[in-house]
Amino acid sequence: MSRPFAGLPGTLYDHHDDHETHRIARILSMKTVCQKQKNHEIPAAIGPASPSGKYPPVRWETVPCNLCGAEDTELYHQERLVYFDQELNFQIVRCRKCSLVYTNPRLADYNALYLCDGSYSVKQIEDHASAKATVFAKAMDEIERWHATPTNSAGRASLLDVGCGSGHFMAMARNRGYDVCGIEPAKTWARYVGETFGLPVINANILDAKVVAESIDVMTAWDVIEHVDDPKAVLGQCVTWLRPGGVMALRFPSATYQKFKGVLLNQVFRTKHSAFGATMHLYFFNEDTFRQMAHDVGLEILAVKTTPMEMNTGSSLINGAKRCVGLALSAAELLSRRHLGNLEIFCRKSG
Ligand SMILES: [Zn+2]
Repeated sequence: MSRPFAGLPGTLYDHHDDHETHRIARILSMKTVCQKQKNHEIPAAIGPASPSGKYPPVRWETVPCNLCGAEDTELYHQERLVYFDQELNFQIVRCRKCSLVYTNPRLADYNALYLCDGSYSVKQIEDHASAKATVFAKAMDEIERWHATPTNSAGRASLLDVGCGSGHFMAMARNRGYDVCGIEPAKTWARYVGETFGLPVINANILDAKVVAESIDVMTAWDVIEHVDDPKAVLGQCVTWLRPGGVMALRFPSATYQKFKGVLLNQVFRTKHSAFGATMHLYFFNEDTFRQMAHDVGLEILAVKTTPMEMNTGSSLINGAKRCVGLALSAAELLSRRHLGNLEIFCRKSG
């Protein structure tokens, strides 16, 4: 079998020398102009320019349920978040038909904002990666429980990490003998992976990436599905790349866990900290809603795990609080016999 990643153009490079705020404003402005031209009128969702006048107006969009298509929701949580130079109210809703939890309405320019990479320093990236090292190692152990057979001509299994970020998981998978590749829309991160690990990254949006159909043995998507604006399409795309019988592993924050944090932070401790992070997090699955979506795209669930919380703040107070939340959740899980924390789900492509 040929290598699915052979002939890749490699990591693309770009220069981001402008001041961050000007760059973001420019990207958002460009997107707003494109949208206006497409619609031949100013969308009704456009509000007044931002208070400082530095940024384009905030544009909102309302979307139907990504799992069942219904437009029948109830309020699940609300939070107030800083968005550039202003605070905005965000609603997290739950579909009355299928229980999927999602941010609605959401920022229409969300993707442009999220792809304005460069907001993390190398130190932050590396601190985050070292905090995740144990989580990644455990996830890899679980993948190897379900996937054992290398299939390509070099005797190595192929692993594609969707939304690979800093590439630390890819590096670990390579050290465990996998033939790895990543997909990462943010140029800064894609460049970091190439320069730091010498690993190939397709610098594109997931739905635009070109990968040979049914060529991948293992697909991973860590902390990705909550960010994408159409999770069903993205999962469906991943399934087309996976060979029949191949393994897909995902990690995402569960709706229940975010709600638990929200009540604790906003109502018990009366802080303004965001639990859902609704500027950038669009979907919050639970085990049940993810099972339904997996079934819809042709994935069979092999295992569901609650992942440990990474301790990446460096603050003993915050880390102590995280340990307390972790213990409380573990106790609640034992009592309810359900997975409530951040979820890690291992699936197999049917057929
Ligand atoms: Zn629904």
